[in-house]
Amino acid sequence: MHTVYGGEKTPQELYDHLSKLDSDYTLEACETYADWIREIKTLKQERNAVVLAHNYQRPEIFEVADFIGDSLELARAAKKVSADMIVFCGVHFMAETAKVVNPERTVLLPDLRAGCSLSESITAEALADRKAELRKAYPDLQVVCYVNTTADVKAESDVCCTSANALQVVEALDSQHILFVPDENLARYVQSQTAKTILSWEGNCYVHHQITPEHILSVRRNLPQVKILVHPECREDVIQLADAVLSTSAMMRYAKESPAQEFLIVTECGLSDRLLLEVPEKKFYKSCKLCAFMKMITLDGVLESLRHRRYEISLPEDVRVGAERSLERMLQLSA
Ligand code: SF4
Repeated sequence: MHTVYGGEKTPQELYDHLSKLDSDYTLEACETYADWIREIKTLKQERNAVVLAHNYQRPEIFEVADFIGDSLELARAAKKVSADMIVFCGVHFMAETAKVVNPERTVLLPDLRAGCSLSESITAEALADRKAELRKAYPDLQVVCYVNTTADVKAESDVCCTSANALQVVEALDSQHILFVPDENLARYVQSQTAKTILSWEGNCYVHHQITPEHILSVRRNLPQVKILVHPECREDVIQLADAVLSTSAMMRYAKESPAQEFLIVTECGLSDRLLLEVPEKKFYKSCKLCAFMKMITLDGVLESLRHRRYEISLPEDVRVGAERSLERMLQLSA
């Protein structure tokens, strides 16, 4: 993990660090955060717990995280956890994935309201019906589900994918017809890169879907030197304006390694915050879109979660095993 996080910061140091991002961070708020951070670290030791945090989390959450990453990186990290407990700072389907890959650990999600518009756009029952109907016309049909789905949707699918490996997974399947669920924007992007037939679902991430070409064009007009990095969950007319279409982990790498100095990061704003803290010598412009579900997780919520061991994620074993099979197949096909 990068050295800008972790370690004990005084309230003043925390304020100096966080107020670079947002004027809403006051010294008074940072005094409270510093107390909570200290308490969380003590409880983590007492409970033998680790905190995994998604890139889109609040910056103060990064201060207590043992690992920060995108959904695939977090799944890999969760699999390696040997501590008794995982406190998952992300949304519900991600905490489920941690349980799928490491069932022996207690997995806690600090706030059960941390859902996802995309994962909630599909159910395992609806997917089973659609699959059965489509297989009458396309007997070779295989179902690829984006990792942003519930465990029972993963179990109903042939294989999972992430935004980073979606094309690779689709190309590796021995099948011409692919039902790609649930993100219609990512499905369209994959269709633009492959000769296979992609059948999509009507679902999207409300955060990425609300970004319009006008947003991007106004930045392009005013700041022509800026590199525009776009997440493939964005609309097609936004993707067409990108200098590069990248997953969040690929955006991190690109921004760090590119000789370019200024970037517009077209995804949820938490990633730009992370880049602003980790790469202070470069300039990052935000798309100003926040995921309300991700932001349900707060520092005091993490503290309460550790204090009261809540809210524990559990899964029926057949669902867990089915989801694990889909995830394992993704790893094989994208190795
Ligand atoms: S950013 Fe979009 S895909 Fe990610 S959790 Fe929020 S609603 Fe779901």
